[in-house]
Amino acid sequence: MKIKSSRVSSLFAFPAKVLRPVKNYLVFQQRRLEVRKKRLVAEDPFSDSSRLNDNAASDADAAEISGHDRIEALKIEVERRLITIRKALTKIKLGRYGLCENCGKMIDTDRLRIDPTAELCMNCAKKRSKRKQITESG
Ligand SMILES: [Zn+2]
Repeated sequence: MKIKSSRVSSLFAFPAKVLRPVKNYLVFQQRRLEVRKKRLVAEDPFSDSSRLNDNAASDADAAEISGHDRIEALKIEVERRLITIRKALTKIKLGRYGLCENCGKMIDTDRLRIDPTAELCMNCAKKRSKRKQITESG
């Protein structure tokens, strides 16, 4: 019979030496996303005010609208990721990193390795995805 070796931590919060690389990674990702967000704003044809008065090219308009929608969707995605990264960084500061937002239990480290910004443990994430409830502040 094969026994899975699982290193169970008796600590409720992650030690600093574990958190440091996580924090570095999150800060790095945050910077990267902020650069990306700026680029998306610059790319958006709608942010070019000179085109607002141009009604002549209707074919080009259609292309611009789809381009705008695509950029808008990307911007939302980038913003969403920035929010989760900021939240994760705040949690590190408060010593609450890796704790499920719903039940307060420690999130599986394998799950955090895949997604360091995971806010819910596996069980709660499953429950939430069923309900598809999106709660956002701000
Ligand atoms: Zn949970």
